[in-house]
Amino acid sequence: MRSQKKFNAGFSFELFPPKTKEGIKKLQSNVHKLVRLNPLYFSVTYGAGGSTQDRTLETVDWLRREGIETAPHISCVGTDREQIRALLHHYRDLGVQRIVALRGDMPSGMRQGGDFRYASELVEFIRAETGSQFHIEVAAYPEFHPQAPDAGSDLWNFKLKVGAGANGAITQYFYNADAYFRFVDSCEKLGIDIPIVPGIMPITNYTQLARFSDTCGAEIPRWIRKRLQGFGDDRESIRAFGIEVVSLLCERLLQQGAPGLHFYTMNQAEATTSIWHNLGLPS
Ligand code: FAD
Repeated sequence: MRSQKKFNAGFSFELFPPKTKEGIKKLQSNVHKLVRLNPLYFSVTYGAGGSTQDRTLETVDWLRREGIETAPHISCVGTDREQIRALLHHYRDLGVQRIVALRGDMPSGMRQGGDFRYASELVEFIRAETGSQFHIEVAAYPEFHPQAPDAGSDLWNFKLKVGAGANGAITQYFYNADAYFRFVDSCEKLGIDIPIVPGIMPITNYTQLARFSDTCGAEIPRWIRKRLQGFGDDRESIRAFGIEVVSLLCERLLQQGAPGLHFYTMNQAEATTSIWHNLGLPS
């Protein structure tokens, strides 16, 4: 972990664009709570398909109007160069300085198509269009991307994104710190020299977490799964256990050199804030 100790990538919070008026109100209220923790930035996810993309733009516009440092995600699957160019211009005009560049996933049943196959091609395009205007984050997978044929090729593909001009990476969430440390070591051996910030998913709802984890390839260790299953509908016990487990994970990651943390807040403030306080982070 020598290479990560020298970076100070800071703390960031991820949001998704809400669908309903009620969701928008909840997001705005929770952002106002989370902003008191003084994160480096908030990021906003971006889906494939029209209306969800508009909602990302609306959420980013609102955050910028509030004067909040914002990193929109841009996924390239199913899009063309002209669409990405227009987005980049829009974000530049809003004063956005940081982008999270992704391939994304097509909704099942839809054909991939578009001008880009991989996130590395998107990073390359953003650099060609906008030079060093944006700080670019990309995704990393300590437990490996579910479509990767093997660990070695996934690492090489990650290196391609870095070579194309990524400044930093945010990982898929994980609950096994050793997977992260080993991933970082392997990156170091390949000469990858950017901050790799652990993505942290607070545990608040077992059913939802199990569903996400099955699709994105993030492993919930058996002992955590069993404990969570044992709590049944007792949401308070799930919450307390989740906060304890994830706080300990974060503590170990930071103690052993992780350069920051990126919280998948799920538009909630409470769990992230509790973990933040347990870690003794400034607010
Ligand atoms: P890539 O880096 O392109 O990798 C995808 C797969 O292709 C991997 O298996 C990789 O090994 C392989 N690959 C890459 N390059 C090559 C190559 N040249 N030849 C052969 N194989 C190659 N999804 C969304 O839709 N919207 C979001 O806002 C969003 N935000 C995310 C944020 C974070 C921090 C993370 C970790 C994930 C996010 N995702 C999001 C999910 C992400 O889009 C999916 O995991 C997607 O399947 C892969 O995206 P990627 O950018 O990692 O793709």
